[in-house]
Amino acid sequence: MTDMKETNQSVDNQTLLANWQQVKEQMTQAYEQASERDSRSANTTILLAVSKTKPANMIATLANEGQQHFGENYLQEAIEKINTLKSNPACADIVWHYIGSIQRNKTRDIAEHFDWVQTLERDIIAKRLNDQRPDELPALNVLIQVNIDNEDSKSGCLPAELPALIIAIKGYERLQLRGLMIIPAKADTNAFARTKALFDDIKASHPELDAWDTLSMGMSGDMTEAIGNGSTMVRVGTAIFGARD
Ligand SMILES: *Cc1c(COP(=O)(O)O)cnc(C)c1O
Repeated sequence: MTDMKETNQSVDNQTLLANWQQVKEQMTQAYEQASERDSRSANTTILLAVSKTKPANMIATLANEGQQHFGENYLQEAIEKINTLKSNPACADIVWHYIGSIQRNKTRDIAEHFDWVQTLERDIIAKRLNDQRPDELPALNVLIQVNIDNEDSKSGCLPAELPALIIAIKGYERLQLRGLMIIPAKADTNAFARTKALFDDIKASHPELDAWDTLSMGMSGDMTEAIGNGSTMVRVGTAIFGARD
């Protein structure tokens, strides 16, 4: 029954649910600390459960408890899980986020199966997603991934490339631009604050972007710091599902 993928160090159901509760508790605490400093109004930070390499039944278990947002990196694996869970009523409200790198020849599958794409970094990809988004689906929510540390090896557009990319995406009717996503360099303790400033600058200078509401930053190891710096969505895998191979 079980293949290799499903036996990687996934936790049992009881541990899965306990982990999930604990992550939510940690998010609440991070939020409360931050709101003492800057009087935020409501804890609206969204938890994206990153389920890459983990089996569909773990997703179903969390969805059944009310977890709504799931993130996937590997397209083939993701589509299999999305199709498997389609017939499960507990999974009817799942919102699927694509958070992997986007190859040009994969845009159609992404446009057809996902609700969000967080890793947009080039106009050519944006245009293809726009053209390939099926008419019967709502506009695809997109985040621009920013290479906030200007690292050679990193995905994401450079901060200097952002203005042109925003203008291009604004012209695509089948895409809804929601904000920014980053994966900071490990040593960069200041990346969250810089990205928050960038996010706010864009909001102020582009009042026409009426859906600009999402700053996706923070993972298992740094979600507290990210929330403290204004993250509206943390992407958490290991702390919920256990280690990956
Ligand atoms: C895998 C992944 C995550 C989750 O990382 P963890 O450290 O397991 O929480 C978050 N964001 C992206 C883009 C990822 O690829």
